[in-house]
Amino acid sequence: SEAIDTPEAVAATDRVEGHTSDLLAKFRPLIAEREALLATGVRDPFSIVMTEVKSPTLAVIQGKDTILLGTYNYMGMTFDPDVIAAGKQALDDFGSGTTGSRVLNGTYNPHKDCEQALKEFYGTKSAIVFSTGYQANLGVISTLAGKGDYIILDADSHASIYDGCWLGNAEIVRFRHNSVEDLDKRLGRLPKDAGKLVVLEGVYSMFGDVAPLPEMVAVAKKHGAMILCDEAHGMGFFGPNGRGVYEEMGVEDDIDFVIGTFSKSVGTVGGFCVSNHPDFEVLRLVCRPYIFTASLPPSVVATAATSIRKLMHAGDKRAHLWKNSKRLHQGLRDLGYTIATETAQSAIIAVMLPDQERAVALWQALLEGGVYVNLARPPATPAGTYLLRCSLCAEHSDERVGQILGIFEAAGKAVGAI
Ligand code: PMP
Repeated sequence: SEAIDTPEAVAATDRVEGHTSDLLAKFRPLIAEREALLATGVRDPFSIVMTEVKSPTLAVIQGKDTILLGTYNYMGMTFDPDVIAAGKQALDDFGSGTTGSRVLNGTYNPHKDCEQALKEFYGTKSAIVFSTGYQANLGVISTLAGKGDYIILDADSHASIYDGCWLGNAEIVRFRHNSVEDLDKRLGRLPKDAGKLVVLEGVYSMFGDVAPLPEMVAVAKKHGAMILCDEAHGMGFFGPNGRGVYEEMGVEDDIDFVIGTFSKSVGTVGGFCVSNHPDFEVLRLVCRPYIFTASLPPSVVATAATSIRKLMHAGDKRAHLWKNSKRLHQGLRDLGYTIATETAQSAIIAVMLPDQERAVALWQALLEGGVYVNLARPPATPAGTYLLRCSLCAEHSDERVGQILGIFEAAGKAVGAI
């Protein structure tokens, strides 16, 4: 019955029967929901394995060549020959890993060179590399805003931003997604002299929409707040130098801290924060997610440094990626799909579906047709939406985008989505 399916009810039943209270019992409703979905005969969208990866845009899934339209490989750097050569060289020169923290035995020449590449790319005084973007947000947010300070964040912020808030001791205030008015109102209610950190994202990764940064910056400044902008999905693609949405929108001088990742346009793994603040380097001494974890393997930071330096001169790729993004957005709308944004605002094109069943059915039909996209569901998505998130790559050719649209047409008609 429904009553017995709630996590609390399941746990209570176990206790009444005298068993050791099963800490996993609270997940039984989720397990049941998943089993019911898989019993309908669909593939599990969360356990796809790529047995071979042929290029940034093509992989073998269950023995079949599949077009990748659900990666964050925006600039297609994962197979760049210079990037691969740099990684191989660092493996030979420095071994497979550092076996230590950045502040002890885990800083090698390639880590310093990678931070140098970031400073060149962003034109900032400081750059600190973390082991992932998740840890960069966790570390920087929890360290900057301490007891008595306030973090003011967009309600649709990435999980790593929320987790960064929870790791620290600051008061947390959320404002309505992308609402300048709500940001202003909430900042206005806070004590005048308190430390305040406004946390924004250049591109919001679920819907692929961008933040109105100039207006947000003006409001934050008016209230004396510092500003952190996560450019995970903007790096490489936005702005004349590929720095992100904040560069494109001309607010570079107003953002105090920029967070980024190597797991998207850069094409490997790692995270970072860049800043011009004169005291920024002190974070290396106080930021727990920087200190209490092993540093990245030297091969990883060497590939990142090479990729970052190449991304500075990738204007043609940026232009092609914009062309692809606009074409796919318009093409899907013309087919009758509902897209999360009116126009293409980034390389993420999010197709909205009314429920899980229809989302999974279309996801599977697309996979059978030869296209992989990301299925996103609550709680990762805003307002309980089910999304098929398409993300384009600068390496998708014009023909590929045409082919993708053809597969969307056939799959959508087959499952009644259009
Ligand atoms: N910030 C945002 C906005 C992200 O979308 C992500 C990853 N999806 C991260 C941070 C974390 O990056 P990483 O993969 O390097 O942990």
